[in-house]
Amino acid sequence: MPFSSLGLSPALLRALSARAYTAPTPIQAAAIPAVLQGRDVLGSAQTGSGKTLAFVLPLLRRLAQAPAPKPRRARALVLAPTRELAAQVGEEFRGLAQHLDTPLKVSVVFGGVSINPQMMGLRGGIDIVVATPGRLLDLVDHNALTLEGVQTLVLDEADRLLDLGFAEELARIQSLLPRQRQNLFFSATLAPAVQTLAQALLRDPLRIDVLPAPQDRADIVQRAIAVDAGRRTQLLRQLILQERWSRVLVFVATKHAAEIVADKLRKADIDAEPFHGELSQGKRTQVLADFKAERIRVVVATDVAARGLDITQLPVVVNYDLPRSTSDYTHRIGRTGRAGESGLALSLVSAGTEAHLCLIEKRQGLQLPREVVPGFEPVETATVTETMGGIKGKRPSKKDKLRAAAARGL
Ligand code: AMP
Repeated sequence: MPFSSLGLSPALLRALSARAYTAPTPIQAAAIPAVLQGRDVLGSAQTGSGKTLAFVLPLLRRLAQAPAPKPRRARALVLAPTRELAAQVGEEFRGLAQHLDTPLKVSVVFGGVSINPQMMGLRGGIDIVVATPGRLLDLVDHNALTLEGVQTLVLDEADRLLDLGFAEELARIQSLLPRQRQNLFFSATLAPAVQTLAQALLRDPLRIDVLPAPQDRADIVQRAIAVDAGRRTQLLRQLILQERWSRVLVFVATKHAAEIVADKLRKADIDAEPFHGELSQGKRTQVLADFKAERIRVVVATDVAARGLDITQLPVVVNYDLPRSTSDYTHRIGRTGRAGESGLALSLVSAGTEAHLCLIEKRQGLQLPREVVPGFEPVETATVTETMGGIKGKRPSKKDKLRAAAARGL
């Protein structure tokens, strides 16, 4: 199906052909006509599926068609969980809006940077706001912005918004919006909390399900290597050099680990940078730009910071620390094998985390053979507390029991 059959304007079609996008992705083909008709949408889709343009294109089309209200005020509001995702969505809006005959004003607002330039940017009114929830509310509280004219609300990565504890902010934002509006809801996972929010928000939504389960991601080779926890950095270094990985995104559990692993790789002459929530916005933007431009070979990131990163042709993702949840596993491996490229997702598993990986595999319907790299044969065995996943002196939780059962092959 060509883009031209979806009801987009000639200006937008020209912009798409300039990008050499030949056909819509499945989520775009399904969502664009529905959004143009004003329908609510519930899309299970993660970064990499083309979900951003699935709402950016029809919203630009609709906003350009209708005259801006006077005074000018935000007609579309996109909420994103992280600054990086907000910036990326804003870039897509701005890039494509340039081609329209009707100029549309886009503001991207997020925390961690000074509020004043953002307030200045909102002066004179805007058409589209892309925001992280906290900063959006700050701006409303400063009377820099009103949400009364919002016709379409987009929740991008709704599951992440909830995971990051934005439920209260979302409720407040909702109370500031007109009751009559279009709602577009995108989420990689439809966990119960996400479904509850979707039910509260959406009216007769079109359901679009395009998230392939990890076991169906033929474009991603998923592997697991067994190694002692203390030897992971050494192994990682060897793999990067031997396999000649040009760009690697390494996931770790904590900011501290991101710093340490990046530092050790640098000491081994591999260009590596940490990427986590405690870095300044300037530093994060710089690391991302350097990584995209291949000036950095390895980025060692925490889940929160790496969420929503759009880096095309990312060939390798490494789970140095295993993700806490199965949905994080899906998100992480989704960083590679994107837009038709093939990728490798590699998990390092030690005696202490074996049970946890078994649980992830069970939930995802996966079975990854444990590989062993010569010279890195694991010698450690898990202690009982580790296998149970619990903390000494505490009764194992339901999750701990499930992990232990999965480890026993139940
Ligand atoms: P997203 O899922 O929105 O993060 O998009 C993932 C990547 O796919 C981005 O780099 C987009 O620019 C790219 N993309 C989006 N739509 C298309 C398309 N129809 N054809 C090819 N690439 C696309």
